[in-house]
Amino acid sequence: MIVKKAYFEQTGGPEVIQWAEAELPPPGPGEVRMRNTVVGLNYIDTYHRSGLYPVPLPSGLGVEAAGVVEALGDGVDALQVGDRVATFGPALGAYATARNIPASALFALTDDIDDALAAAGLLKGCTTEFLVERCARVQPGWDVVVHAAAGGVGLLLVQWLKHVGARVIGTVSTEEKADLARAAGADHVILYGTEDVAQQVRALTDGKGAEVCFDGVGQATWNASLDSTARRGMIASYGNASGAVNGINLGILAAKGSLFLTRPTLFDYYKQADERAAGAQRVFALLRQGTLKMTVGQRYPLEEAAQAHRDLEARQTTGSTVLLP
Ligand code: NDP
Repeated sequence: MIVKKAYFEQTGGPEVIQWAEAELPPPGPGEVRMRNTVVGLNYIDTYHRSGLYPVPLPSGLGVEAAGVVEALGDGVDALQVGDRVATFGPALGAYATARNIPASALFALTDDIDDALAAAGLLKGCTTEFLVERCARVQPGWDVVVHAAAGGVGLLLVQWLKHVGARVIGTVSTEEKADLARAAGADHVILYGTEDVAQQVRALTDGKGAEVCFDGVGQATWNASLDSTARRGMIASYGNASGAVNGINLGILAAKGSLFLTRPTLFDYYKQADERAAGAQRVFALLRQGTLKMTVGQRYPLEEAAQAHRDLEARQTTGSTVLLP
């Protein structure tokens, strides 16, 4: 079977993404051949492409997709040809019309979760699940800051935090994004390009600050996060959309009020088969009952992935973005 897939031989801007047609061999033992119907765009794709997260080159690109099982390798008995599935990780290569993938990396989809919903929401939903419930263990009544609150993960964080009873203070770059964050449930929204985030957070919390600050923006918001977090509160620095946070002097955590700092990744919280299954089920349940509503803000043909990267990095997107093979 001939497949079309993205690859890059050197790191750099979106222009390094190339396309090739290649013969896909039959799936190996423990693998299935998955035909992708919808591919998820994630910020991590840009880190792989740019070299911020180094990968061996040449490399495929993309970690998330939904689709259909088309062939089974030896020893696969939990899935059948025709099953609808979704995946994130473990290897790069989701920007493709089809690929072989370990059956253990797949989540079966039920009829009420369509492919676009799965590709737009699985990785970001699972990220939200582990951040809120298992990393920061947010409690009802807490004040929580969500940076980039109108982004893919951001909109889900806002909704999940409201679901657990937190008060949410979002930050965004534009009025349009502020409206989206408010519609998702944010109690307050700060325009971080023009307003002083920490000052606003302190004013909104009677000087206390937020119990938790979820920071996927990184370099540009690091100081605001430090100054917005309450004594003995937590900064969960889970991403680097504006660049990585480097060279932290631990003493700053004492100076700012005995803060907890974590730099968590999804793959450490979704390591074991049972925690993967439980986390994904939790996400699917909240999607099904409407507690979580997905915003698919952009759709691009798969071959226009470079343009999708440009728009994501230029802060032109809202909610989730999908690529269509
Ligand atoms: P988003 O849709 O949130 O896009 C990134 C947003 O960050 C932009 O829309 C923009 O919102 C904001 N931003 C602020 N400064 C910049 C900048 N200089 N350049 C670009 N964007 C900027 O992306 P995702 O939902 O895919 O991912 C959000 C974050 O979550 C990323 O950092 C990603 O790496 C991280 N992540 C981490 C995971 C983990 O396991 N640790 C798993 C999944 C995602 P605005 O215009 O409002 O400023």
